[in-house]
Amino acid sequence: MAKNAKRKIAFVGSECYPFVKTGGLGDVMYALPRALVSEGCEVRVILPLYACIPQKYKDQLEYKGSFMMDQTQEGRTFFVGIMEMKMDGVTYDFVENREFFDWGNPYTGLWEDIPKYCFFSKASLAILNYLKWAPDVIHCHDWQASLVPLYKRTKFWDTPVGAAKTVLTIHNLRFQGICGIQHLKYWSGLRDDLFDYPVLKWNEDEANMFKGGLAFADMITTVSETYAQEIQTGAYGEGLDAHLRYHSPRLHGIVNGIDVEQWDPAADRLLAAQYNADNAVEQKKINKGALQEKLGLEQDGHKMVLGLISRLTDQKGLDLVDAIFPRLIDGNTQVVILGTGDPRYENAFRYFEGEYKGSVCAYISYNETLAHLIYAGADAFLVPSLFEPCGLTQLIAMRYGTVPVVRETGGLKDTVAPFRRDCNEGNGFTFDRYDAGLLLDAVNNAKTVYFTERQAWDEMVKRNMNKDVSWESSAAKYLALYDELIQK
Ligand code: ADP
Repeated sequence: MAKNAKRKIAFVGSECYPFVKTGGLGDVMYALPRALVSEGCEVRVILPLYACIPQKYKDQLEYKGSFMMDQTQEGRTFFVGIMEMKMDGVTYDFVENREFFDWGNPYTGLWEDIPKYCFFSKASLAILNYLKWAPDVIHCHDWQASLVPLYKRTKFWDTPVGAAKTVLTIHNLRFQGICGIQHLKYWSGLRDDLFDYPVLKWNEDEANMFKGGLAFADMITTVSETYAQEIQTGAYGEGLDAHLRYHSPRLHGIVNGIDVEQWDPAADRLLAAQYNADNAVEQKKINKGALQEKLGLEQDGHKMVLGLISRLTDQKGLDLVDAIFPRLIDGNTQVVILGTGDPRYENAFRYFEGEYKGSVCAYISYNETLAHLIYAGADAFLVPSLFEPCGLTQLIAMRYGTVPVVRETGGLKDTVAPFRRDCNEGNGFTFDRYDAGLLLDAVNNAKTVYFTERQAWDEMVKRNMNKDVSWESSAAKYLALYDELIQK
């Protein structure tokens, strides 16, 4: 590649803020392309045109063309439409097909999602060829885009897009796209020999899309260095640890950042009071008051507010929170939970809200606006995850001067240094083993510092707000990887 030529990077993934987001993947698909554009790359993001995308974005789309594409073992053809928009220097190409993308928010269930994402992965490559835009690198995300490296090296190897290198990023290994071999053979239309053990075969009867992608991608990344190590072990590998150990020379961990414009307490209009590192201690009190008022909590600036914003699933360590809940509430503490998910946790937290009226709010919903106020109004923020590939909530919390209490796993370990009283260092309170008692100890340590060593607490707030959690340094690491691949 000529020196100073613009690198052309295509992103392929199943969600992207602000169009559609269910978790951290959506944030990364939004923020990393923007960071790469500011580093001088040309970036196209390819997404399904789901029915659930808000109309205000659909109204901005421009028709770029359409064609029929064969999919499935028997060569059934399907419509592929290309709808495009540009935002902040990034080009977004949406794949239109109503048979696949007209229901779900955006996911439905694996039986339907597997055909949907086989089609999406193949259509993404076909679209790049149709648009005559040959990327240097195709950066694919999670199992939904994991057939891209396979299609690229088989059905598309002798087309313009076949020259691109592929990167596959693991955002969460728990979800792998596993189904019956015949189901995947039919819908992917991929060659039989790709269903052997080194590639797609998972067991006698089933195939695994993520496994195949990991075998065929030129480079594999995941979203923190610790998670890159953890997934090579039986405890965290979700059955793919041996496969990942085998492919480990191509596996790298790069921690996520957050979009510091989207998450900026000094300019955040969703807050009751904006603030920066210098006036956080005073201004956060105003946000705490607004949060307490909005959620019907006792309005008392002296109470310590613990926040938690999460998908309510086993991954997030909520059974630990559930187990110690009564001991969190001590007359000086309030707890605010925002999340939806497993009814077991939704009901448990609703129960505690009823039991501790005025001290606990369980807001069982997905609500971006409220999330901002919690990040700003809470004093400490709980992330006790069983596993956490990177985790964004602890990064956002630090940016908003809210002290994280985290389990030392994955990206939580890489981004939150434990508070050290002796030298007044660190970003939060941490515990290692997955144990409710240890979480309680960590929360109690946080309470002790908050109530009895306020100066040290306030200094930590300031330190966290000044910590670099932006995409800049991570984007530079991705660029270095892309360059390494391009030069190969
Ligand atoms: P994961 O991707 O595993 O869900 P992350 O910590 O990487 O977890 O990202 C979670 C993102 O989703 C954060 O931006 C967080 O603020 C947001 N989020 C999670 N649950 C909710 C909710 N109920 N309402 C609003 N935002 C939420």
